[in-house]
Amino acid sequence: MKTFYVTTPLYYVNDVPHIGHAYTTVAADVLARWKRLCGEKVFFLTGTDEHGSKIAEAAAKVQISPLDYATKYASEFKRLWVVLGISNDDFIRTTEERHRKIVQFVFSRLEATGDIYPGTYSGWYCTPCESFYAESDLKDGKCPTCGRAVEILNEDSYFFRLSRYQDKLLKHYEENPDFLQPNFRSQEIINFVKQGLKDLSVSRTRVSWGIPVPNHPGHTVYVWFDALINYITAVGYPMDSSPEAWDSFREFWPADVHFVGKEIFRFHAVIWPAMLEALQINIPKKVFAHGWWTVEGQKMSKSLGNVVDPHKVCDEYGVDAFRYFLLREVPFGGDGDFSQGAVLNRYNAELANALGNLLSRTLTLIAKHFQGSLPSSAYGKLSLLSDLKPLLSRIQGSYDRLAYHEALDETWSLVFRTNKYIDEQAPWKLGPADKEKLSGILAECSNVLQILAVLLAPVMPEKSAEMWKQLGRTDSLAAAARALLKEGVFHPELAQTIQKGESLFPRKGRWK
Ligand SMILES: [Zn+2]
Repeated sequence: MKTFYVTTPLYYVNDVPHIGHAYTTVAADVLARWKRLCGEKVFFLTGTDEHGSKIAEAAAKVQISPLDYATKYASEFKRLWVVLGISNDDFIRTTEERHRKIVQFVFSRLEATGDIYPGTYSGWYCTPCESFYAESDLKDGKCPTCGRAVEILNEDSYFFRLSRYQDKLLKHYEENPDFLQPNFRSQEIINFVKQGLKDLSVSRTRVSWGIPVPNHPGHTVYVWFDALINYITAVGYPMDSSPEAWDSFREFWPADVHFVGKEIFRFHAVIWPAMLEALQINIPKKVFAHGWWTVEGQKMSKSLGNVVDPHKVCDEYGVDAFRYFLLREVPFGGDGDFSQGAVLNRYNAELANALGNLLSRTLTLIAKHFQGSLPSSAYGKLSLLSDLKPLLSRIQGSYDRLAYHEALDETWSLVFRTNKYIDEQAPWKLGPADKEKLSGILAECSNVLQILAVLLAPVMPEKSAEMWKQLGRTDSLAAAARALLKEGVFHPELAQTIQKGESLFPRKGRWK
């Protein structure tokens, strides 16, 4: 069975999740659900990154332990994922024992191979902020966080020999043009690596909230070095040479795609593959960096008070409409703007008026003229979807390129086309003498709607299940999906009785 391993970044637990976190996680979820429908064995990982001085300081301010602090925010992420219908197979926290063991093992192993060595870290240090800054981070020579004076400070540190991997990375980028996506972001990474890589400080003596460096008391592992390793921890990176353990690890490794925000692309595109090269294990097939959301045209920030709370959007429009909007509004990879007007337009025009209305018209006529059940013979000569196979292969291609908006464009072209068909056929004008013709038109619409329920299942799992049920299907949508997506065949269930329910997408107005 083909396997597929998809990850979100591990989210830092210094705040409650916002639309940016929801975006990455929904994108990963839709892909995971799509791959499962295609019959692949999927492992979908998300989780939280919990170490570092920022967490320790924030915890101290509210007088709780760093672990309690992290637990509180990790549970906020878990709660949102339940609300958003996220189908992750695992949720990893970097404070878990299973992860600590692997990080320490990796550190020791790279020390043994000479990829990690002791040295002295020298940098601009702000004492009140307890933080080092690179020269380029300073603002007018002062601390970029608090504006106070900074001083050069030396600290014992262990370094990862990143410079050793510069040529290997450049070769890898060149030989694997799909590795860094989208393409317009990859050149920046390549230029950065070409300028020359410096070895990376991977231990801290001033941060106690971290994984202890094995055999070197007083040092903790740098939070990024720790967090990246989660992707191999979760799929069972072996600490011994047993062939069974390696087989099990290789079932899902290398990952098929790491989803990241553009601000952390470099860690995943440079440091992580270098660490994997050093460990002599395969590099993931793809790292995809998506863009950022502004809100009503403005940068989203706590100080502006315009941070979008995903719970609130779900309360107003429903979970599936929110998932739909995130992937429909902006080509995946680019930046986008989140505005009430845009959500409302998409919702009313595409969900309520187009899809919802198509379902409602079809079901109303089947109920009115056929007591809820079309004769089997009505499905005998379907012709509306003569181009189903090319449509499916275009949608498949869109998902393979992570072009969600294109997959949805293709799907909506079918919705619009079918609405046009029903308008032209005007079945409401047909009388009792035209029953055969009428049943044929409605069978066309019902058939398309059932296919739409399948195609939309990854993006709108709840609404698609509701459509399936209202159309009278009592069998498994997943099984019908596999037949459709693997073999390109779709069998309407004959003589099913529709279960017309509440409107799928009632029209909405602006919220407060
Ligand atoms: Zn400062």
